[in-house]
Amino acid sequence: MSQKSLGYPPLAPFRVELETLYQQLASEARLAMSDPRAVIPLHDLRRCVQALERIGADQYGRCLDCGECIELSFLKADPTTPYCMACTGKHLG
Ligand SMILES: [Zn+2]
Repeated sequence: MSQKSLGYPPLAPFRVELETLYQQLASEARLAMSDPRAVIPLHDLRRCVQALERIGADQYGRCLDCGECIELSFLKADPTTPYCMACTGKHLG
């Protein structure tokens, strides 16, 4: 029995969505760099890159905190989330 591949969630649609989001954020960041008043979306970019890395490492969809599978509806609402619903609540305080 291999623990490596979770088989959950279906990665392909999330990968497409995250890659699209990354392109958007990267072009936003490029624009922001030429405008001193603009805010560079570094936080979002980092979350997005880390989510793509988790997909590459076959760890996507697993909560970084408790190790449980993140609820599919929660992933759909925010594909960059590294935590399940309960742990996100904890991290928010
Ligand atoms: Zn969790």
